[in-house]
Amino acid sequence: MRVLATQRLPGPAWDALRDVEIAPIDGRRDDVEALVAPGERIDDAVLDLFPSLRLVANYGVGYDQVDVAACRARGVEVTNTPGVLDAATADLAFALLLATRRRLVEGDDLVRSGNWGTSWAQAPFLGREVTGSTLGIVGLGRIGSAMARRARGFEMRVLYHQRTRVDEPGLEYRALDELMSDADVVSVHAPLTPETKGLISRERLALLRDGATLVNTARGALVDEDALVDELMSGRISAGLDVFVHEPAVPHALFGLANVVLTPHIGSGTVETRSAMTQVVVDNLLAAERGEPLLTPVN
Ligand code: NAP
Repeated sequence: MRVLATQRLPGPAWDALRDVEIAPIDGRRDDVEALVAPGERIDDAVLDLFPSLRLVANYGVGYDQVDVAACRARGVEVTNTPGVLDAATADLAFALLLATRRRLVEGDDLVRSGNWGTSWAQAPFLGREVTGSTLGIVGLGRIGSAMARRARGFEMRVLYHQRTRVDEPGLEYRALDELMSDADVVSVHAPLTPETKGLISRERLALLRDGATLVNTARGALVDEDALVDELMSGRISAGLDVFVHEPAVPHALFGLANVVLTPHIGSGTVETRSAMTQVVVDNLLAAERGEPLLTPVN
């Protein structure tokens, strides 16, 4: 099966592919049957270029950049990589939580700049307690649940919001508005869909307590980014952000703010997890080649 990949994926699993070409999407290709194009928007315009396409193998669990309905209408299947990246992404979300609450980046800057002095005990450099505080999880799926497990290790009270209620000790359901106002930290883990776009709206951001923290490792567009910038500029809240609306562009106003920690969409970015994601992509491609059921089809 002829595979076009816009880049080589990391890890040894990639070598199992026999007929793969590394090239950008830049014109009509009648021979290509499977596409691996991390970060690229796959819509009708792209699908028109590949009349023989059978499979879009998405490198990641979130597939909001793939027009699944357009693929389905042409008989093109779509796969993703759920499960193998839960721990790495929850680790990064928790790292952002800790870094923001304990002002890690500001502290690092202070030490490097030679301005440490005697300021260590003074109020401007005090962070917020993590142990025993309240975490609100929006989207208690695979990654959200992994986040909840980490929070328990820090003796946090864990609130959650999603459409489905779960009956698990130690997890308290809240309507979204209540979760926003009851939590010290809100961490977003829902997929980006037409329903969740702008879910964390200006009105909901205003419900956050003074000194609260928003962590977003899901997708930028789940949050009203302009409203978030306004709240951060006011200094009322803090944020740890791995995702943005127009990646790799980041709102310029954030660069000068000490109350936000920024990372470049590296939730799944460990050697081990990226290798495991490659394995899932390759297993799906090989299954499609053999005419076997796909491992992780997007429904
Ligand atoms: P998942 O297992 O499908 O969990 C998503 C959860 O969101 C579900 O439990 C779902 O529950 C909830 N949800 C869906 N629609 C909702 C709505 N309208 N309101 C509230 N909750 C809603 O997905 P996952 O594997 O944990 O991944 C979550 C997302 O993380 C991905 O879609 C991806 O965008 C992002 N991600 C980012 C990175 C990164 O590098 N930063 C890495 C991996 C994943 P209900 O259906 O019951 O509402």
